[in-house]
Amino acid sequence: MALASVQGATVPADAAAHPLTTHDSTPPVAPRYRGRFAPSPTGPLHRGSLVTALASWLDARAHDGIWIVRMEDLDEPRCVPGAADDILDTLSRLGLHSDEPIVWQSRRHALYEQALADLTAWGLVYPCGCTRREIADSLTRVHARHSTLAYPGTCRDGLHGKTARAWRLRVPDADAARMHFNDRWMGPQTQDLATEVGDFVLKRADGQWAYQLAVVVDDQLQDITDIVRGADLLDSTARQIYLQACLGAPTPRYLHVPLVMADDGEKLSKQNGAAPLTLDTPAAILAALKAAAAHLGLPAALNAIAHRDDFYAAAIQVWRERFGG
Ligand SMILES: [Zn+2]
Repeated sequence: MALASVQGATVPADAAAHPLTTHDSTPPVAPRYRGRFAPSPTGPLHRGSLVTALASWLDARAHDGIWIVRMEDLDEPRCVPGAADDILDTLSRLGLHSDEPIVWQSRRHALYEQALADLTAWGLVYPCGCTRREIADSLTRVHARHSTLAYPGTCRDGLHGKTARAWRLRVPDADAARMHFNDRWMGPQTQDLATEVGDFVLKRADGQWAYQLAVVVDDQLQDITDIVRGADLLDSTARQIYLQACLGAPTPRYLHVPLVMADDGEKLSKQNGAAPLTLDTPAAILAALKAAAAHLGLPAALNAIAHRDDFYAAAIQVWRERFGG
């Protein structure tokens, strides 16, 4: 269990109230499934993001669960005006409706501020004065494993006259740094936070909240039990599990689906030529859904279905047989 591996984390002696040092002996009660689809409004939904939307929706429906849309519109420099409404319109055309009001990260700054204040009070966060180049690993939402060096902990014991630029979460040392989790698609995963990541940024030098903090706070406050998302975020999962433990939040289950790749070998995106979905007829909607289902490895028999709602009913059934429910 991932939680067990963080209980050996270094917690300052004066952090008596910290969740890492307190143990709840209440036996866990399986809560009702709550999942989410969390697009960033950096462009219209395309056939790659449809795969993720469909997988998360199917998993929620297969578990008779709740499916919530969360708009991850925090990274203001990257957000495109109108893209959020465009995504919501596309989801509506597909018949994928959020079961609860849509959550907008841009309206939740006070919640992220509170989490950072708590972590700071518990001695788990420290200011970092390193330059942008040194913290580049945390500036992008996604980075490939091994593509960046772990933050070396330069500012762990003080700024040494530098100005605070960003705020970092202290990760455990030695064995406690090895995070383990089981991905429902990818299988057992391990990441060493100390050697592969280092103390990671929660609030960036440009004043923006880091993706890692916002997503963990939101998953906790929305009582998310299951996270289904693209495999580009597999590399962030160990950090998020550690941060959940730091905040006293339960760890959700994870399922990372294979990415749709562009011709350049990168994740399909607006930048490398992903076309917006054209969903102006029922046939076009069904064709887009069938392509997404094929990418997810669902049976070719689904291709014979002529109506969207019949397709969904059959897809939920095969998903349930494959992933439980
Ligand atoms: Zn630093």
